[in-house]
Amino acid sequence: MGLEEYKGVYVFAQQVDNVLDGVAFELLGKGKDLAKDLNTDVTAVLLGSGVKGLADQLAEYGADRVIVVDDPELKDYRTEPYAHALASVINEYKPEIMLVGATAIGRDLGPTVSARVATGLTADCTKLEIGDFPINAVGNQPQKHNQLLMTRPAFGGNTIATIACPDNRPQMATVRPGVMQKIAPVKGAKAEVVEYNPGFTPNNRYVEILNVVKAVKNTANIMDAKILVSGGRGVGSKENFKLLEDLAEVLGGTVSCSRAAVENGWLPVDLQVGQTGKTVRPQIYFAIGISGAIQHVAGMEDSDLIIAINKDEGAPIFDVADYGLVGDLNKIVPALTKALKEE
Ligand code: FAD
Repeated sequence: MGLEEYKGVYVFAQQVDNVLDGVAFELLGKGKDLAKDLNTDVTAVLLGSGVKGLADQLAEYGADRVIVVDDPELKDYRTEPYAHALASVINEYKPEIMLVGATAIGRDLGPTVSARVATGLTADCTKLEIGDFPINAVGNQPQKHNQLLMTRPAFGGNTIATIACPDNRPQMATVRPGVMQKIAPVKGAKAEVVEYNPGFTPNNRYVEILNVVKAVKNTANIMDAKILVSGGRGVGSKENFKLLEDLAEVLGGTVSCSRAAVENGWLPVDLQVGQTGKTVRPQIYFAIGISGAIQHVAGMEDSDLIIAINKDEGAPIFDVADYGLVGDLNKIVPALTKALKEE
């Protein structure tokens, strides 16, 4: 079968306990852009048990069509039945592009499915666009048009690689949560809903879930915060993060941190920003006692306004900051908090 028979941009609409994950909406937003460039439409693939009612939400966030596989086998995530369902949808409907969120579930599901449908997958992408491949064709190297160009950090974040999958379909990517923009929901929008039954066999039941223990989360979701007050090794100790908490409190913000702060045991990993932490896009991002390593910057550079406080005027964080304060954070941060309180 020719590659040209594969059509449409497909998005895996991850849900847990019948609640859609935010990354599903982000992928729909990006999917719409890609579909526009390819003159095609966007389909959400919704797998679960009793999930059909979620189709309307997916329509509001941009899905033209929703393919639903609704089966008790898909109640809780397990690799085998989910991979069987998604691979069957791909084999049946032949999408040109298949996007999956790089969540714990997506990082398991995406590669399993790509192997099953014999195509490639680029993991943990931070940018997707339609273009020519090779990007700079030289000599008699044939250039293929309208390819999905998938960009991701490589070699520990020291370089950025753009990867394509010119000879197989679908072109598959997992995409970092928080990177793509969702569209403003269109209330009352409707999508075509298609129910599909891939047929589950005993082979799909290697794993039985006996009990689900939910993680107790007592940390804020830094990906939703409008103001982040982020601290690094320069803060010096767990106790000294109190300075940042006080500033966050007067601003109505949330504290986050660099990996150094997590490695020192000062804050939990849920609050880490960066390549191996979370990608954030707040209205205001304070980088306090953070040097601005490439792996940190990768997670916060799209913030609307970046304010850096660092005693070293040569710190790379000042290259991405909109405003920079050079000096000792132990003096600047309490003074700032006091001034804001007095306002
Ligand atoms: P440092 O680089 O040690 O910087 C501390 C800064 O504080 C310095 O600039 C110093 O001038 C300043 N300072 C010190 N005292 C004061 C003071 N009193 N007042 C004002 N300023 C002061 N890092 C992340 O953050 N997130 C990630 O997701 C991440 N992923 C990574 C993935 C890989 C594969 C690798 C290899 C690394 C990763 N890192 C990540 C680590 C990253 O390379 C840096 O080591 C880390 O970001 C450094 O943290 P920092 O800026 O807090 O500490």
